[in-house]
Amino acid sequence: MMAPAAAETYAERLEHTLPLVRDRVEHAIRSTGREGSSVRLVAVTKGHPVEAIDAALAAGLRDLGENRVDELEEKVRVRGREAARWHMIGHVQGRKARRAAELAHLIHSLDSESLAERLSRIGVDDRAAVHVLAQVNTSGEATKGGFTADRAVESVHRLAEMPGLAVDGLMTMAPLVEDESVLRAAFAGLREVHERLRRVTDRVGPELSMGMTNDLEIAIQEGSTMIRIGTALFGARGYA
Ligand SMILES: *Cc1c(COP(=O)(O)O)cnc(C)c1O
Repeated sequence: MMAPAAAETYAERLEHTLPLVRDRVEHAIRSTGREGSSVRLVAVTKGHPVEAIDAALAAGLRDLGENRVDELEEKVRVRGREAARWHMIGHVQGRKARRAAELAHLIHSLDSESLAERLSRIGVDDRAAVHVLAQVNTSGEATKGGFTADRAVESVHRLAEMPGLAVDGLMTMAPLVEDESVLRAAFAGLREVHERLRRVTDRVGPELSMGMTNDLEIAIQEGSTMIRIGTALFGARGYA
């Protein structure tokens, strides 16, 4: 894990990056007439040391995202589970399902029926619903996880019926491209799946987790309620 360039601390960095990100969010909300709607900012601290977490908390950020269960565990152990609202945003292997459920307040990356069954059992055993977002592969890229878009309504509807599982909404990752129309289609695709789902069940919540550093404006314009931002807040990560 690399520290930011030069001697700039994470706190100093956030002093200028956080207002820039907030401006981008406000501007995107205004550009679509979604005034008054709020978009939750999840600060993605993966690949950054605990100083990044401390700086984020000191700057008033409460939602922190990690994409690996081991790294999440390390950071929760150091700062405590109640210090933040922890978001698990990366793939969760079956054998790590229990740890993910215990550490994270929200798992964005529920990407298979078998993981859903495990989390459902955990939620039933512990008598505390595990909060999740169902990840949908709206770009069709083979490298991306999640339920395929054409089966997503049917699949997520089934998950939403499972006991011990609270499906708060949906999540997607756009492809790593510049083409705005491709990005927009990926986000609009998630919104459409969500609208169709909410017509057939009241067991899927309102959240749409979409938008990262390079595409947050488009995601917000397409209805995002939660953006997951790493690079724009903390700078480049020490690993790919
Ligand atoms: C790393 C990551 C992010 C943050 O990406 P940035 O481009 O650094 O903002 C968001 N979502 C997921 C699932 C990630 O793995």
